[in-house]
Amino acid sequence: MMMKETIAEAEKALLHTYNRYQLVLERGEGVWLYDMEGKRYLDFVAGIAVFALGYHYQDFDDALKAQIDKILHTSNYYYNLPAIEAAKSLKRISGMDRVFFTNSGAEAVEGAVKTARKYAYRKDGRTDHEIVAMNRSFHGRTMGALSVTGTPKYREAFEPMIGHIRFADLNDIESVKAQINERTCAVILETVQGEGGIYPANEDFLKELRGICEERDILLILDEIQCGMGRTGYYYAWQKYGVKPDIMTTAKALGGGVAVGAFLMTEKTAQRSLEAGDHGTTYGGNPFAAAAVAKMIELFEKNDILRHVREISAYFEKELDGLAGKYDFIRERRGSGLMQGLDCAGPVIGRAMDKGLLLINAGPSVIRLLPPLIITREHVDEMIRILDESLRETIA
Ligand SMILES: *Cc1c(COP(=O)(O)O)cnc(C)c1O
Repeated sequence: MMMKETIAEAEKALLHTYNRYQLVLERGEGVWLYDMEGKRYLDFVAGIAVFALGYHYQDFDDALKAQIDKILHTSNYYYNLPAIEAAKSLKRISGMDRVFFTNSGAEAVEGAVKTARKYAYRKDGRTDHEIVAMNRSFHGRTMGALSVTGTPKYREAFEPMIGHIRFADLNDIESVKAQINERTCAVILETVQGEGGIYPANEDFLKELRGICEERDILLILDEIQCGMGRTGYYYAWQKYGVKPDIMTTAKALGGGVAVGAFLMTEKTAQRSLEAGDHGTTYGGNPFAAAAVAKMIELFEKNDILRHVREISAYFEKELDGLAGKYDFIRERRGSGLMQGLDCAGPVIGRAMDKGLLLINAGPSVIRLLPPLIITREHVDEMIRILDESLRETIA
């Protein structure tokens, strides 16, 4: 079967919740993907910030295969070795104290929200606590995560949300203060907003917010699902500013392609929030997913991925700025490390795809670039060449 027919079959079987690109991807190698007809693409999407180490990283694949031969799943009523290893590794790279593994990012956000509510409940026994979230934010598609997602069109048809959520603007501390009151139990934000259009939280905002939360015993929840795991040149983007959250979420690149997420918290938060029986999951932290996490972190450390990201992202930013300077209709380049956006309208992404470069959008008008963290200068050059050509044809 050819790709076109395969896509027609897919559209008869899968629920149509995505307007997908007309592409059936079959295999990957390093930073390259191949469709079912053998055409090669340079991948600047990485499965949406998932494939940090690229495709077919041999050591990683070997570790997964070895775990398959031992055991895939136990149950959280027992301990398993990979989960212990993964939790210890996550504590080491994040500086947080306690880990709960989930199967996805949205579930990690659910856990973070429940933790915040329980923390406040244990203080005063009330059940009307509020959470402040950000406009333009994205935290996932389950009801709790959706409730703190600041894009009304994602929420509208599914109202009522969990309730008691107020929205403020990222990087506008006065707007946050205006939404805080004596019932506020948490403030949640992405350290770098992803889906909403690549907007990094700035240092002063984060520091002031940390101060306000400290003063009022409000929990600061940082969603690091997209910007975490080395993407900004730090394991977690907040580490650049030293603004430590009380609760943090991580997923996407955490399992390098295996479905896994986690929410982490400080010891103080853990001691005063969730207790035995309060939260659970069948699959979360299963030996297979946990083996992936442990191996990812081991490979990050062994290969000093953070140093590589810091080096290559300086070049990446410089080259993107060059493009932004060349075309009037690119309004801005924004981002941090290997999480970048070009604010620009036009059908550029489809053109680039035809020419063998994969990109995605963020929000209505931003081209989002999320390459595997192992890219080299040659890959950046090739991306710039194709993107430049696509932009030129867009204005022609
Ligand atoms: C992708 C994403 C989520 C949701 O993760 P899923 O694994 O798709 O549930 C939550 N928060 C942020 C910041 C994300 O980028």
